[in-house]
Amino acid sequence: MLDALSKSFFHALAASGSLKSLASRYGMRHPSSFARRFIAGETVEEAMPAARELATRGLLLTLDQLGESVTSAAEADTATRSYLAVIEAVEGAGVERNLSLKLTQLGLDIDRATCVDNLRRILERARRGDFFVRIDMENSPYTEVTLDIFETVWRLGYTNVGVVLQSALHRAEEDLARVNALGARVRLVKGAYKEPRAVAHQSKADVDAAFVRMMRALLADGTYPAIATHDEAIIQQTKRFAGERGIGKDRFEFQMLYGIRRDLQTSLLAEGHRVRVYVPFGREWFPYFMRRLGERPANVGFVLKGLLSER
Ligand SMILES: Cc1cc2nc3c(=O)[nH]c(=O)nc-3n(C[C@H](O)[C@H](O)[C@H](O)COP(=O)(O)OP(=O)(O)OC[C@H]3O[C@@H](n4cnc5c(N)ncnc54)[C@H](O)[C@@H]3O)c2cc1C
Repeated sequence: MLDALSKSFFHALAASGSLKSLASRYGMRHPSSFARRFIAGETVEEAMPAARELATRGLLLTLDQLGESVTSAAEADTATRSYLAVIEAVEGAGVERNLSLKLTQLGLDIDRATCVDNLRRILERARRGDFFVRIDMENSPYTEVTLDIFETVWRLGYTNVGVVLQSALHRAEEDLARVNALGARVRLVKGAYKEPRAVAHQSKADVDAAFVRMMRALLADGTYPAIATHDEAIIQQTKRFAGERGIGKDRFEFQMLYGIRRDLQTSLLAEGHRVRVYVPFGREWFPYFMRRLGERPANVGFVLKGLLSER
């Protein structure tokens, strides 16, 4: 109940223009500013030191240029071109070639064809550079169309692409069978959005139980799945299940968000697990940042402290 309330509260705040402009003014200003705990920089160049530092520690990474809900074809084109520039920058910097992106960034709200064209431009260039591209999953109105576009590009031969499934959704277990049948790579998450009862489990216990069932199905039948959670109990269950089934540590990976549970990232790595960190950067960091606050309202404490010391 509290989980759902806090998610709704922070999603409502995320829509506030004045809060956004206040946060944007102070959140990333200095290396110690409050949003920097979760966001690696406002440009790809600024994110590179963080990416290199993770790689030096033995962590894998995926870079996400933040942005969502683009409403004109021109903006979608700009976002696409800026993703192409990110690919160039990553090649130049010599960091791991792995990207995450959102389809609403590429024009999904305008029309499907614009979005698919833009995605293909990125996937084509990414394939030439040997990049893996993960299509993030947004809120439930986009689930079906995201999976549908994912399947379309997969069938067109872009197998350098993977998708995300959210255990919170009632439909997720059927979707998992659909993606496993393709032999494509899934990142399993709980789901970051406040969703209605008609489409999603409302209690943490149900979301967690579905996550564990899906984790098992992915480890048993999936293709190099990513178990993306900071939930220690579920991570333990994943390790136990893999051990019991003789599934090697090279057949799946854990994923966590930049700045969250760094201790757990390090300890899993020390045990020989693969751990990938999702590294977001970009000027459009506010909605992502608010989702992270909604997941753990205790984070508000350090934001307020940061804001007070900035002013
Ligand atoms: C690599 C990665 C990619 C993701 N991609 C997507 C996506 O495409 N679509 C989508 O809907 N969601 C995505 N998510 C977010 C995900 O759905 C969850 O909202 C988020 O991971 C929190 O859930 P949890 O599994 O960590 O479990 P929870 O039960 O929420 O948290 C377990 C524990 O983790 C720690 N923790 C969790 N969140 C935070 C936080 N914000 N700050 C500090 N500590 C925290 C706390 O110790 C908490 O007790 C992604 C998550 C990861 C790790």
